[in-house]
Amino acid sequence: MNSKLDPWGSSNIDDYSKLFDEFGILPFDDIYNNVPEPSHYMRRKIIFGHRGYDRVTEAMAEGKPFAVMSGFMPSGMVHLGHKMVMEEIIWHQKMGGDAFVGIADREAHAVRGFSWDKCREIGVEQYILSLIALGFEPSGHIYFQSESDNVKDLAFELGVKANFSELSAIYGFNGQTNVAHMVSALTQSADILQPQLGEFSGPKPTVIPVGSDQDPHIRLTRGLANSMNMFRIEKREDLKGNPYMSIRSKAAPEGALQEVAKRMPWKTKVFEGHVDVFGVDDKQKLKEIARQAELDLGGYSFLPPASTYHRFMSGLQGGKMSSSIPDSVISLTEEPKKAAKKVKRAKTGGRMTLEEQKELGGEPTNCSVYELFMFHLIDDDKELEEIHSECVEGTRMCGHCKVYAAELMSDFLTEHQELREQARDKLDEYGL
Ligand code: SF4
Repeated sequence: MNSKLDPWGSSNIDDYSKLFDEFGILPFDDIYNNVPEPSHYMRRKIIFGHRGYDRVTEAMAEGKPFAVMSGFMPSGMVHLGHKMVMEEIIWHQKMGGDAFVGIADREAHAVRGFSWDKCREIGVEQYILSLIALGFEPSGHIYFQSESDNVKDLAFELGVKANFSELSAIYGFNGQTNVAHMVSALTQSADILQPQLGEFSGPKPTVIPVGSDQDPHIRLTRGLANSMNMFRIEKREDLKGNPYMSIRSKAAPEGALQEVAKRMPWKTKVFEGHVDVFGVDDKQKLKEIARQAELDLGGYSFLPPASTYHRFMSGLQGGKMSSSIPDSVISLTEEPKKAAKKVKRAKTGGRMTLEEQKELGGEPTNCSVYELFMFHLIDDDKELEEIHSECVEGTRMCGHCKVYAAELMSDFLTEHQELREQARDKLDEYGL
């Protein structure tokens, strides 16, 4: 596996477990039980990893504010891969999250050279109509990067904290990379942090549901979020081993540490660059006081954004799903009959002959039709389990199975496309 995950490239990640060791992504299994009413992507282990998602599950369970955010680069057809991200956003919105969707037109303009008009057209016609058709509520926020002053201003501020070496190490930028491409990386960090701005009621746990190829953005943004904050809180010990808390700051404005010290209900001692706090019996309270002080002093006090990581579907012909191989991918705007034909031609995990299939059973784990059922076409876990058992037991034959999948796909697309047309009339409800 390429050790650089390239969000603009075509990484083929075949061993997800390596991501746990190599990049510090944590297994989703560890926090699965904390999620109220897990989505089918969670139940089926399609979402396999996370960073910092425990803060989001806590907020969900306690009814506290949290947000969900993801972006789409308006570069081509909206397809089943985008549907997965959209449904993850919508699920979090239903669970009470404030939902944000950014159309990354700055990125499409910088990286693909698309005109602003073309970005707008693709953004609405492809992504936004499908997002609304899938159930995104008007209480959420859909915006174009180029039209959001919040995002553009924050991207500039983030640029103060990011340097060329750091961006190059993450994205492999070099001397030939255009500057707007670098700005677009920071613009996406601004997208991710926007839900925590004062205009949207301030710092809160925010999850970004992504494929693991997008992890570089998450790591960059978590680092930037920390660098933007005035204070860092550390647990320390004196020479006798007695614990105390130290609030440290390199970049706070003059008088900020004195202000924090004044607000602490515990004994404090102010030094240059830090204030030590003694006898703290409630660390959470200390953090909240420091956070409020920072906000009152005009700072951001960002929480590091959380993320969930999903597996990718393979292409219908096996291998990678790619828009440049039309038979490997199904677009949400595709003619239903044409899509059904693609499903009927898809690569299955079936055996060479019917006899062999009956004797050995099929291989659903190696079948793109089964993946379609699991990711998109079957809601009911029981039905999915039955298909799996029938397949491995050799009582289910690929011909019929594909016909069934093709029907479900055609029905889904027909309904989705009707809902897209209805969504067209509702764009103004979303401020578009
Ligand atoms: Fe795939 Fe269905 Fe064939 Fe099993 S029977 S390998 S699930 S197409």
